Amino acid sequence: MAEQVVADLRERCATPAALLWDVAAAMADEMRAGLEEEGGSRVKMLLSYVDKLPTGREEGLFYGLDLGGTNFRVLKVHLGGNDKHVVNRESREVAIPPHLMSGSSSELFGFIASELAKFVADEDKGNSSSNGKKRELGFTFSFPVRQLSIASGTLVKWTKAFSIDDAVGEDVVAELQTAMEKQGLDMHVAALINDAVGTLAGARYYDEDVIAGVIFGTGTNAAYVEKANAIPKWEGELPNSGDMVINMEWGNFYSPHLPVTEYDQALDSESLNPGEQIYEKLTSGMYLGEIVRRVLLKLSLQCAIFGDIDHTHLKTHFLLRTPHISAMHHDETPDLKIVAEKLEENLEITGTSLETRKIVVEICDIVARRAARLAAAGVAGILKKLGRDGPTEKHRSVIAIDGGLFEHYSKFSKCLETTLCELLGEEASELVAVKHVDDGSGIGAALIAASQSRYR
Ligand code: ADP
Ligand code: MG
Repeated sequence: MAEQVVADLRERCATPAALLWDVAAAMADEMRAGLEEEGGSRVKMLLSYVDKLPTGREEGLFYGLDLGGTNFRVLKVHLGGNDKHVVNRESREVAIPPHLMSGSSSELFGFIASELAKFVADEDKGNSSSNGKKRELGFTFSFPVRQLSIASGTLVKWTKAFSIDDAVGEDVVAELQTAMEKQGLDMHVAALINDAVGTLAGARYYDEDVIAGVIFGTGTNAAYVEKANAIPKWEGELPNSGDMVINMEWGNFYSPHLPVTEYDQALDSESLNPGEQIYEKLTSGMYLGEIVRRVLLKLSLQCAIFGDIDHTHLKTHFLLRTPHISAMHHDETPDLKIVAEKLEENLEITGTSLETRKIVVEICDIVARRAARLAAAGVAGILKKLGRDGPTEKHRSVIAIDGGLFEHYSKFSKCLETTLCELLGEEASELVAVKHVDDGSGIGAALIAASQSRYR
């Protein structure tokens, strides 16, 4: 009985190469449709207004603020110029109190500004380095934003665990700027970007061949460099560089080729944003643990794999988190001791047999492997759109990837990389590299602030 449920899941989550190429082709088609006209695709393909990426020659002190889905980080970088790169950096990470994720806009931005003010005040104790210039800040805000310029943009909608109604439709830079003024903080927001754009910028600063930044963290997104004349929906003046970074917002991608199961459908319909962010719900850290929990619940209710247990915990949404399934999936002890521990700590399930623990590992494997393979298909879609997926390609293409899922879930990141090679074939994959960029999103914001700086 349990074997049957697992076998069904395995079959429904299967991602053979042919299916992944269908997904990649659908991604490339959606990219084209989204560039064609506003609203042309679920994949919004938003203009970032970043038309020049950092070169390594930027110089001076810059600040970055990174608001993702779980934490936010403030940082300060000292850029040496002339390829000396980052001479010094300091950062601080702060967990976002959960109640602020669904409160009011002014509470959230007030909290952020006050933490930023504390960081700046601590920094200033030793040395005052602002030289009478206003401090410049790059703001990484990783939710869909319709940009109006490099340093302004209105929130399209919240994703992940955020839901603050009065912020939707508002300019998030204006909100931050107001909150900073209330704190008496003398800082100018020079650039508004998201984590994917930041990761692209942070990696490009060191390597010219970086063409895209991709995030697999709480959520997922991608940004890449597009030719400005390949964006029919763009009505403004073409930039001198001829390039424009596109913020894909690919988390909202959907294709009938995606292997969606009954568990995914239930997760989606009970989520904060039903019908939206389907690709994100299959591939990102916020959801993988929750998918596994739903499968385990079915196995427990229908097949009693855990014996006669109280289901209160196993029925609690989001109680089993992706770091937990990662720990279980990587358990190499002969008797799967870590699996037993995690089940006990998180779900109060005790006395499991080795056989049952093996089933749990297999569920983690099915869910994480599907995620990683679909993630690789998304990357292949970008390469396909750019015509960089074939064996005749001459350019090297580097994809910069960041996010807690990619960074910490090594079976996920390895599978993503091997799947990409499998899809591209031996020859083409020699010219494609996947590179983990640590904290690109925070540094990237400071770097873009630097390349936009009015004091240059
Ligand atoms: P954000 O997306 O909020 O900017 P991160 O990039 O740090 O933040 O990603 C955080 C996410 O990464 C968490 O929500 C979690 O799903 C995932 N994650 C963190 N640690 C691990 C881990 N050890 N194993 C698997 N996933 C992890
Ligand atoms: Mg982040």
